This record gives sequence, structure tokens and C-alpha cells, in this order.
Amino acid sequence: MEQIRKRAGWSVAVSALALSLAAMGSVQAKEVTDADILADGTGNSSQVVTHGLGTKGQRFSPLAKVNPQTVKNLVPVWSFSFGGEKQRGQQSQPIVFDGKMYVTASYSRIFALDMKTGEKLWKYEHRLPDGIMPCCDVINRGAAIYGNLVIFGTLDAQLVALDKDTGKVVWKEKIEDYKAGYSFTAAPQIVKGMVITGNSGGEFGIVGRVDARDAKTGKLIWTRPTVEGHMGFKYDKEGKQVENGISGTTNATWPGDLWKTGGAAPWLSAYYDPDVNLIFIGTGNPSPWNSWLRPGDNLYSSSTLAIDPDTGKIVWHYQTTPHDGWDFDGVNEFVSFDYKDPKSGKMVKAGGKADRNGFFFVLDRTNGKLKNAFPFVNRHDWADRIDLETGRPVYNDDKRPPNPFAEGQGEGEAKKGKPVFAAPSFLGGKNQMPMAYSPKTGYFYVPSNEWGMDIWNEPVSYKRGAAYLGAGFTIKPLNEDYIGSLRAVDPVSGKIVWEVKNNAPLWGGVLTTGGNLVFYGTPEGFLKAIDATNGKELWKFQTGSGIIAPPITWEDNGEQYIAVVSGWGGAVPLWGGDVAKRVNMLEQGGSVWVFKLHKS
Ligand code: CA
Repeated sequence: MEQIRKRAGWSVAVSALALSLAAMGSVQAKEVTDADILADGTGNSSQVVTHGLGTKGQRFSPLAKVNPQTVKNLVPVWSFSFGGEKQRGQQSQPIVFDGKMYVTASYSRIFALDMKTGEKLWKYEHRLPDGIMPCCDVINRGAAIYGNLVIFGTLDAQLVALDKDTGKVVWKEKIEDYKAGYSFTAAPQIVKGMVITGNSGGEFGIVGRVDARDAKTGKLIWTRPTVEGHMGFKYDKEGKQVENGISGTTNATWPGDLWKTGGAAPWLSAYYDPDVNLIFIGTGNPSPWNSWLRPGDNLYSSSTLAIDPDTGKIVWHYQTTPHDGWDFDGVNEFVSFDYKDPKSGKMVKAGGKADRNGFFFVLDRTNGKLKNAFPFVNRHDWADRIDLETGRPVYNDDKRPPNPFAEGQGEGEAKKGKPVFAAPSFLGGKNQMPMAYSPKTGYFYVPSNEWGMDIWNEPVSYKRGAAYLGAGFTIKPLNEDYIGSLRAVDPVSGKIVWEVKNNAPLWGGVLTTGGNLVFYGTPEGFLKAIDATNGKELWKFQTGSGIIAPPITWEDNGEQYIAVVSGWGGAVPLWGGDVAKRVNMLEQGGSVWVFKLHKS
């Protein structure tokens, strides 16, 4: 009797559940957990739920079905057009979860697509005001996903969280005021249930800042400014602001009031290593570009910052270009990896960074101590080398654009200083396009560029919402036959193991796999597969427009998929000077391509 009653109760409960599910119209979709986030790139290959295929940003997938033997059979499965008249630069890394792909597009758009068929499930177009001021095209680099939300940032410096299954807006928060020059283009990163973002606008004298919000509600948990002198805050459950410390010492590395408009925008994604419980994020140029107006190191500009996710405090910093005078920024991703120290034989918890300034830095990621630094480009005029003892660059002073106010400088009323030619150009030995690291080969795969610039300084004063440079420039190629070069970099020996040159500047990211392949796209429109050991090109496919976005891979039903977004644009055609002229035949576009192995 007892048994029967129990069974009856169970069956009533089941019917009630079935009824409520029927009432909702569908079975509850899967939610993204913290465990899913941390499993990316290692444990679960059926998903891509982080920017970087793992919060460490290695962009390595253990998947191996597509490999040097099989890659010749890689064929497109579907392609989806972002449509409309809104083309321009497409820099997004898609997210893949539970049979769906979430991909952002130019002009602050996001699409949900059926992963198998490419069918559109929903789209959201953010309504943008007229006065947005993105420095470097109307791009977006991707979304984050957590719980039942996809979260992405907009050109008017807002964060929008949408129900991943319906596309309905769940919360929306303002990061900062776009009228003061703030914008947002990076992919947010999820760390311990928080959505971590920086901001953009270093060319407008904004103040860089890293924010942590409750990913489910959008409410601020902490903020950490990246210009020394500004106060950071924590927020309690009621949203009350509590100070959590000043960023360094006011006026220690900035003269006068310049720290109030100091730039240092952390405009790319944050990364996170759970082993050391640190968030790593890079900061951009000090404002203005004219370095004569701001003697000192100008902390924490052009640096890598390690931030404690639990307090929002800066645990360590390493400045790759102290007193930056070339807009080298320092935003490039700091990618956690481990290696055996050849001298001591001990394993080092390290991080690698291919900086815009042309040097590759290897730091101990537990404390920020410099372990190795070497150039990954052929020309680095601004500094001979990085001193491994002091951790500082050995500058070539005659390659800093001269002081327009000095004797013999300052021509005419505009007081334009004399130009110098220096390499890399401000678009960098490497820019926003993320590199990849393979634990199999131990190499970083760095999408680099060889170019220089004429650069000069001139007077400037801060005006809210106006460009704040105090500099002029023309970018020039260094070689006739190539600008771009995909380079395999050994972080321990400091050697370039192989390189594949490319006519146009490389502006897309890189993926590497357990199949010992490196995937990357070119502005000429090709997605290419390269042997990770020797650099041999094994496969390529023309996507119809330039690729300036990083590829991804995942597995479904025993098959390995590769995807990449295509659509030429970004900073090069806007800022590239003589280089822009060289690439002006490239056509715009806006689509995502998905590939898998052809079954014969
Ligand atoms: Ca900059």
C-alpha cells in the first residue's frame, strides 16, 4: 500500500512537471555554470563559452579529428550573413553552447543561430545614438554567456544582457558616458559569476577602469580605475559605495592634473587563471599621446595588471612601455602558460604577452616578475632591448617624437614638432588580434606586422569628448612584399621558430589545436590551416571578405567544427596611412562561416 501511494505521488508530481513544462511551451534550456566556464578549452570540447577558448586565453582546443592528414577534407557546412547595409569591420569570436551559436556583429548587433543549420533564431540590434565616438571602427569582439544570459557591450558604452533563448533584454547597464568619448568593443569575461569589463576611449582622455558586476543582475560589485590617483570602490548588496583603495599615489607618476584625463583604457578582454586566482588585463596609452606633457611613468598605462577578483585590488603590475610616446598601448592579452625553467629545472607559472611595442614578455604570473623579453618583430626602433635586470626598456631617445616646445622645434603657429620615423608603427607589432598558445608544441602563434611611422608631437589641451592626442602620424610599410607575418614564437629560447608572411597586415586572431594545426584568417579573405610544428600551409578557403576575427572549434556528435567571422574593416583602413592605400581594394562584408570534414 505504502509503495503504491508513493508511486501515485511520484506520477502526480511527474504529470505536474510535464504540465508546467507544456505551459512554458518548451523544455527548460540548459544554463551555463561556473564549471562550464572553467571547463572551456580543456574538459568539454562541445562548447565555446569563453573569449579565448578558456579563461586563460590560450585559444587551444585539444580536438584532433581535423589534423594535417584530414584537413584537406574540410568543407563549409553553412554561412550566415549579418545582412543590412551595416557591414564594416567584423571582429567577433562566436560563442557555442547547447546547439546554438551567439555571434556579435558591427554596429552593436548580436545573433543567435542554430549551430547545425545556421538558421537564425533571434537577433538584437542595439539602438545607437548619433554621437558615438569609437576610435577604430564600429566593431564588436564578442559576447559572454552565463546562466541563461548572453552579455555583450555596445559602442555607446553599455552592457546588455539578453535571455539566450529568446533574445529578450533582461538587464542593461551603462558603463560610462559615450559623450565623454567612452565606448565598448571587447568581449566581456565571466569570472566567479561576475562579468568583467574594461572600457575604450584612450584617444579622448577618458579614465580607464575595470568593472566587476553580478552577471545575473548587472549590479556593480567593484570598480578599479587604471590611472594612478583614482579611487576604486566596492558595492554592498544594496548598491552602497564603499572605498576599496586609491590606485597608487596621486601625482607620483603624473604631473599636475593630467591623471584626471590619463587614458590607460583596458579596451580588450580580461583573462583569468583560477590556479593563482588573478584577473589579467592590459591597459592602453596614457593620454595625451604627446609624452612631453606628462613626464613620468604614467602608471598604470601601457601595462599588464593582475587584479584580485575578490577585492578588485591591483596585486601586481608590469609596465611594458613606461612613459609611452608612441601609442603602443599595452592592452595585448596576457596568456597563462607553464614551462620548465632551463636553468633551475623548475616549473614556472608564467604568462606571455606579445606587446604592441614589438617585444614579447614572459612574466611570472604569481608576482609579475620579468622572466624573459625579446623582440618578435624585425624592427623596434624605440628601444634596443628590455633590460632583464631592471625590467625596463633601453630607449633610443632619438626615436621619441621631439618636444614641440623645445629650441629649434615647433614650426609655424601650430607648433608642429619635427617628425621622426620609428617602428613598429602605433598599430603595433601586434594589435587587438589574439595569439594562441599550444601546450603540445610549447609555442605561441603570434599574428604580427612589420610597419613604421612618421610621428610628431604638437600642443593639445583637453576638451571633453574631443580627440586628445597632441600628435600626428603617417604609417608606412617597411617591406614591398609583406606587412603581416604569422610567427611561431618559443617563449623560453626567445626564437622565432617559423613564420608565414602575408601581403596585407594581419588583423585576425589565431586558434591552435590538439590536431597540431594553427588556424588564422587574412584580410585577403582566406581562412588558412598551418602545420603547428613547421609552418607549412595545408588548407585555405576564401570567405568572400577580409578576416579580422579569431577562429574557434568545437565538437558535436563526434564531428569537429571550425568557425570564423569574415568582414574587412577595423583600424587599418581608418588609420593606416600609406598602408591603408595598399589595402583599399579589399571588400567589406559581414558573415560567419562554419566548416567540418567532408564524409565521402
Ligand atoms: Ca591607443
